[in-house]
Amino acid sequence: SFALDGRVAVVTGGARGLGEAYARSLHAAGATVVIADVLDDAGAALAAELGERARFAHLDVTDEAGWAALIEQAVAELGAVDVLVNNAGIANAAPIEHFSLAKWDAVIGVNLTGVFLGCRAVVPAMKAAGRGSIVNVSSVEGLRGSPHLHGYTASKFGVRGLTKSLAVELGADGIRVNSVHPGFIRTDMTTRIDPERLDIPLGRPGDPVDVAGAVVFLASDASSFVTGAELVVDGGMVT
Ligand code: NAD
Repeated sequence: SFALDGRVAVVTGGARGLGEAYARSLHAAGATVVIADVLDDAGAALAAELGERARFAHLDVTDEAGWAALIEQAVAELGAVDVLVNNAGIANAAPIEHFSLAKWDAVIGVNLTGVFLGCRAVVPAMKAAGRGSIVNVSSVEGLRGSPHLHGYTASKFGVRGLTKSLAVELGADGIRVNSVHPGFIRTDMTTRIDPERLDIPLGRPGDPVDVAGAVVFLASDASSFVTGAELVVDGGMVT
């Protein structure tokens, strides 16, 4: 079933963009949703709009102690964390000669170390419950190379690899771990990219809601035999 009634889902970067769409769709499927983000106003407003079964928690995904506090509070107040969507991410770009260490550290820190910290923080609670689904947001840039995106590409390949090692390690504990690979989706992250030059077989850029169905699927029992998988949602762009 795709239903998430009675399940608790944490969505990082859930205040806007793709994460907001994931939070809305998981909530609509019946889950109680914790929107975790550094954007306090937007996150709190979204939680208030969704109302019952939604709350906002301030979290910087690079903050190890912040993760421990978030999971501890969710388990104490909501009873469990059944679903973790590691969505928070940033992007930067430069030709390799100008790709500063600060740029590299920033994107690897949020996109890869942030996912590692989230998975590590939630696993004890999921093991105790005997079930769980972790959905890690990679990208089509975790499947191919693109110029100037060096840190982003490395982080998204890293997320894909981390997903697979976790899937193998945690299967016996009833915990599934999968990655989602969105293509070009209209959000604040992609406002400067022209979709015309991307050659998308479905003929349009994606909308955040186009990816949300994949996340609900992987979060729910509809995907009960799916782990270590990479679900590409790109309108056929990388085929
Ligand atoms: P966005 O910039 O619109 O939203 C990102 C969200 O993450 C924001 O709410 C932001 O506040 C939050 N965030 C950033 N750093 C954070 C941190 N350190 N701690 C907590 N929250 C943090 O971007 P988006 O397009 O919605 O991207 C969401 C995810 O999807 C990212 O991982 C991105 O790499 C991935 N993705 C996006 C596209 C696309 O075309 N938009 C394609 C493939 C993958």
